[in-house]
Parts: sequence; structure tokens; C-alpha cells
Amino acid sequence: MEYYVPTLLLAALSTRAAVPEDQLGGVPFGLPRSRWPVCPTCDAPASLLAQILHDERRADLGADGRVLYVFHCENRPGDCGVDERERLQPGVIVDQRELTSSRTTSPDDSPITFPEARVVAWRSNQDGIAESLRESLTRGCAPDTDAEDSLVIGTRLGSAPWWIQSPGDAPPPPWRFIGQVADWYSFDLPAPSAEELGAPVVRERLVPSRSGVMARLFGPGPDRVVFTREDPSVSRPMPERSNGDIDVARVSVDDWSSTVFNFGDAGMSYIFVNLESNPPQACSFLQS
Ligand SMILES: [Zn+2]
Repeated sequence: MEYYVPTLLLAALSTRAAVPEDQLGGVPFGLPRSRWPVCPTCDAPASLLAQILHDERRADLGADGRVLYVFHCENRPGDCGVDERERLQPGVIVDQRELTSSRTTSPDDSPITFPEARVVAWRSNQDGIAESLRESLTRGCAPDTDAEDSLVIGTRLGSAPWWIQSPGDAPPPPWRFIGQVADWYSFDLPAPSAEELGAPVVRERLVPSRSGVMARLFGPGPDRVVFTREDPSVSRPMPERSNGDIDVARVSVDDWSSTVFNFGDAGMSYIFVNLESNPPQACSFLQS
């Protein structure tokens, strides 16, 4: 099956277009404010996790010009989206004719804005899995376990979910898997300087912990980098939530990555759509 991996660029380093684009985090573009969803657990407005444009091959939303907005709530981490009945986080699919021509102002009860990354390209790949196994892999009843091993971890659209836990969490057909979002951003570029970022950049040596947790979270690179718009003299050993800042990143010579979403222990969010309902529906849920 074909799958698509995003090439990301930190939005702070790029010029924003005046139309909806594929993006992770940030604030939605084109979403009517009245359709900004609330979290089923805490009832407060949720934060944008991903904005995905219709593409027949990559993300079939059923009609040209449609945009999918996926939300995730971190108002009460460890509480929101955990309970079985409130597990499904809200998503919204908007028809082209309903899209506004601006960024959506967040609701009064302003939710966290996750750091925004633009998808500047989608890299198409083949995982070698037969199309006929798509549904059984999604539902966890595939006869061929080798196929499961070929599923790709990380943020991508297409193919079947790389389940961390039980496929039983998936909403039943006609809900269909669209893609998955990992809790980190990975950039195929050298890490930006403070000048490029317009924000202080603090570099610290990575001190391996006895448990190895740091090494697992941030990789084997020699440096740990804190990008923050706050006081650069304050070092923070672990990712913390803040409005739009990239807090902690793993950096090597050619690329860098940062844990952005608080999905629990190396979690993944799975995105599903139901195009047979009217209007079409979307949701996401976490596993970690
Ligand atoms: Zn919530």
C-alpha cells in the first residue's frame, strides 16, 4: 500500500499562505469559528492537532476542496480522552464552500496552541502490503502477521494503522483510517539558529539518565536544545507545554526533532473519517 510521510517546516521559519494548507499544530485556517469543537471530557475548546486537505490518493475526504481538522485536548492531560466513553477526540470536515478566508480566531476560552509545522511536501512510499489487507490490518484480524511488521511507525497518511495497543479502539466501519500523528515533529534540515527563529536558543549537553529515558526520548545525539521565547537562562529538562514554542529537541548535524504533543508514553493519535454520514464525520484517538 502507498503511504505518505510529511516533509515539515517550522511555520515560524516560513511565510504562511492565505489558503488552507496541510499542517500540524498551530491554529486552523478556513474553519468557521462556530465549528471549533470542544473536548468531550472537559467541555473546553480543543487544540488543533492537524489540518489535512482532501487528496484522492493521500487523504480521501470524499469531495474536492474539503479540509479535515483534527483536534486534541491537553487541558487536563491524563484525564481528557482517557475515559472509554470520551476517548474519541473531535474532528471536523468542512466543505470548500463553507471555508472562511482567514485563520480562525480561537474561542474565548483559549486552548493551547501547539507549535505549528507546515507540510511542504508529502513523500510517497510503498510498504509492500497488499491492498486487500487494509481493512483486516485496521481491525486487527489480518491472517498474515508479516504484513503487520511492514507497517510504518510515525506520522503519515495512508495504508493501515501501526497500532501501539488494541485495534479494538478503532470506530467500526464505515469509519475509515486516514492517517496517524506521532507525538514528535521531525525536520530534515539543520536546526535553526536563534536569529532565524527570532527567539533565544539554549544548547545544553545531554546528560544520560540511569533509566535511559532521555536517550530514548531524544535520541543519541550529543546535544539537547531548548528553543523558547521565555527566559533563556532557565533550562527545562523535559518537554513542557506552552503556546507555540518548541521546547526541547533532539538535534544532529543534518536534522532535528522535537516532542510536541503530550500523548503519554511515546503515543500516537489515529485519525478516522466516516464519509457515509451526512455531514461527514471525523475523529481521532490516542494510544500510548
Ligand atoms: Zn479536555
